[in-house]
Amino acid sequence: MRFPVFQTRLNVLLLAAVTLPAAAESPQPADIIVVNARVYTINPKQLWAEAIAVRGDKILAVGDKTKIESYRGKTTKVIDADGRLLLPGFTDCHIHFMDGSLGLTRVDLNGAGTVAEIQRRVKAYADSHPQEPWIQGMGWAYPTFKPSGLPDKKILDDIVSDRPIYLVAFDGHSSWANSKALAMAGINRGTPDPPNGKIVRDEQGEATGALKEAAGDLIDAKIPKPTRAERLDALRKGIHEANKAGLVRVHSAGQDFEYLDLYNDLRKKGELTLRFYVAYFLNPPGLTPAINKQIEDARRQYKDDWISGGVVKTMLDGVVEAHTAAMLAPYTDDPSQSGKLFWDPDQYKATVAVLDRRGLQIFTHAIGDRAVRLALDAYQNASEVNKTKDARPRIEHIETISAQDIDRFGKLGVVASMQPLHSYPDEDTLSIWARNIGPERASRPWVWRSIAQKDGALAFGSDWPVVTLNPWKGVQTAVTRQTEEGEPIGGFVPQQRLSLEDTIRAYTLGAAFAGRREKMEGSLEPGKLADFIILDRDLFKIEPSEIGKTEVLLTVVGGKAVYESPNWTHSTAAETK
Ligand SMILES: [Zn+2]
Repeated sequence: MRFPVFQTRLNVLLLAAVTLPAAAESPQPADIIVVNARVYTINPKQLWAEAIAVRGDKILAVGDKTKIESYRGKTTKVIDADGRLLLPGFTDCHIHFMDGSLGLTRVDLNGAGTVAEIQRRVKAYADSHPQEPWIQGMGWAYPTFKPSGLPDKKILDDIVSDRPIYLVAFDGHSSWANSKALAMAGINRGTPDPPNGKIVRDEQGEATGALKEAAGDLIDAKIPKPTRAERLDALRKGIHEANKAGLVRVHSAGQDFEYLDLYNDLRKKGELTLRFYVAYFLNPPGLTPAINKQIEDARRQYKDDWISGGVVKTMLDGVVEAHTAAMLAPYTDDPSQSGKLFWDPDQYKATVAVLDRRGLQIFTHAIGDRAVRLALDAYQNASEVNKTKDARPRIEHIETISAQDIDRFGKLGVVASMQPLHSYPDEDTLSIWARNIGPERASRPWVWRSIAQKDGALAFGSDWPVVTLNPWKGVQTAVTRQTEEGEPIGGFVPQQRLSLEDTIRAYTLGAAFAGRREKMEGSLEPGKLADFIILDRDLFKIEPSEIGKTEVLLTVVGGKAVYESPNWTHSTAAETK
């Protein structure tokens, strides 16, 4: 049953009282109690516990079995966790949720390491979706196509020639079309390269099917946009995947703002089981009255535990691999380039100051050391001119950094929002990324430990669909700085390895802090939202190389089980003792 508001208030008072021995005899019954768990709370006052009690969408109590059993009433559901690890639910601080969700309805080429495997997956999708006019997908990787690193239309023509195929690379920076798609987009020998893009051609000048950067838009423009129903269907799949991976909240870093009403639709239908913090994506030259209205309307309309606005994302630069990250000094492998800032620096600084004055949180994408410095400068300037406190502006990615800027995160209260899997030290990272910037700068790659040691706040995420939204692979990478195969031996700049505790924190309480939600989320404490997960393994007792294989057995969001693994065997009992 649901308690009226006045009674809930009363319960809060009682709750305060039950911590005193005299009042412990008659605590209010819980809806759910979880017993026999290894509860890692993140709360320093009570780091470990055995059990928790939940009523409605909040945590009633955390403690030992005896204490929590005292909350058992006639209708209380009891979950025996069988000694398993229970953690606060995870937050993904950097995600492109709509894009990732749509990807789930298309061909998934992640991990398809051979041409034959790509062909198999595309064909399987085409055969099982005979009505789909376009075959779309994402996730192919450059090393699959040796020696050029780029795919050819013929590989796809051999599989499907009567329907167009359009496949985006895992990083979103290149794409691949079959002959049918090229023809439908009118791409031929005479087609000029678009600004910021390149149609890859063979010696005869014929398009090979590989398209770089904005050249992919020539094809993309021909593809019918997904309908509202298709988007909703995709979001349901995305939310399920997120809950299954142990996520209870995401911070959307772009493209979701325009679909806020779809998220709201799902909430009204009772289908929203993931919390959303959604940024408005601001491009240079910046704010206009119309944009201000959109941002403020969203802030006013969406401000509860499930959907909230009040945050603006922008991008200062590109990526190291494509020499588009803005560097303080030229690239080592190509000194003619040093990357370009997407914004005029003064305009960016002025815009940041305006947003900060209005109390909006700011996420700035900055990968090159020059972009990172400019973001720090702009945040410092804003806090000085506005006298704002605790605004928690964020820098997203921070792949490279000048040594002298590391301690500014802590000093200025800037949150470092990083994605551990981007540092995954495979061929791509060690050969291309590190080669492009040279050994001196590559000695400071993804320096989360150095930032944390200087009191900078960390928040972790994935950047899905660039990489998987599964956070356990990210946890493993942050802790080991090695690939799944244990390469490189000793770790990629091992001084930056983070402890398991600090890594979990960056996905929970650190993430809540980074989204201005730490009073209600991020740790397991009475009064906070009942968002937690139970895992199939105890991360504190296994080899770090096993963390990535973690499976979530149970995900609870707002006191409701939103995902239960088929492998989750546990005893539950209501009205029994
Ligand atoms: Zn992103």
